[in-house]
Amino acid sequence: MFSAFFLPSFDWIQIEVSGLCNAKCLYCPHTVWQKDWLGANLSLATFKTLLPYLKKTKLVYLQGWGEPLLNPEFFEMVNLAKAHGVKVGFTTNGTLINEHIAEKIVFSQVDVLALSLAGIETNDRIRKGTSLNQVLKAIETINSAKARLKQQNPQIHIAYMLLRSNEYELERLPEFLAGYGIQEIIVSLLDFVPSKELEEECLAPQTEEDFNLLKKRAEKVAEKANSLGLKMIFNLPSPRSQGRVCSENPIKSLFINSLGMVSPCVFTGIPVKQKTNVYFGSIYQEPLKSIWNKQEYKKFRKTHLSRDKPPVCVTCPKARIELVF
Ligand code: SF4
Repeated sequence: MFSAFFLPSFDWIQIEVSGLCNAKCLYCPHTVWQKDWLGANLSLATFKTLLPYLKKTKLVYLQGWGEPLLNPEFFEMVNLAKAHGVKVGFTTNGTLINEHIAEKIVFSQVDVLALSLAGIETNDRIRKGTSLNQVLKAIETINSAKARLKQQNPQIHIAYMLLRSNEYELERLPEFLAGYGIQEIIVSLLDFVPSKELEEECLAPQTEEDFNLLKKRAEKVAEKANSLGLKMIFNLPSPRSQGRVCSENPIKSLFINSLGMVSPCVFTGIPVKQKTNVYFGSIYQEPLKSIWNKQEYKKFRKTHLSRDKPPVCVTCPKARIELVF
């Protein structure tokens, strides 16, 4: 009890329980940097070393750059996390959700389940190896399991990727997704662009004028969604700076990838060779508390709060996010 008292507390810890994936989404570093990919399954033994911290954490999000359900120990991790009183969420591509898995998700009392989509008719081309129909079927299967087991959770969210090639479908989205029992649609732009060829897909506005146009468009779509009982939130990077802390909240949150490396956010902890990640230590080598309290990590957080942000944050769209809903 006393040792837990001295542990740091977090708003959330994001843990990449699997850095493996069965899909090949065109915009994902896992696809683009496949040759150098190091992502793996995090072991249950390693996960267990993090449990004491979960008592002082509001949310643990079990996902990074892979498909969490590919980790055979996933449900044991969820059960352990829930037993430590923390909220649990994860994002999935939906390909592995059948009736049995849906029941396990509901039974283990996962709080939030997000399913990824990137378009309506464009989704299957952009998110290769996944399908829109599978995602919709997965939602229905989860909803049936919730009804059968008389459970309210998990809340179902859609993590929607808005790209140049699917933007023409945006206005149709609310009507298309209404009636599925979805609680939130969270729309993001391509915040991390893993190759030059993908730059074209990123809709991040470069000027104030472009930002205002996109914002207006987003407001209209969100309003339509609202009228259909759907909450829709857009994460739009503004051309000007927004506040002191970026939307990944590195002051009170962190990311641990499937290699056990600790970094401030998913964008600085991609499990791949020869990329400039910002790692502050490995949970295989030292306790998370020692990593969090290292001088260089403290300095990163202090600098992030200042005007002179760390170099990796200076150009990051997450430092300029404006929420539109
Ligand atoms: S600004 Fe970007 S790189 Fe820096 S901590 Fe936030 S998300 Fe990570």
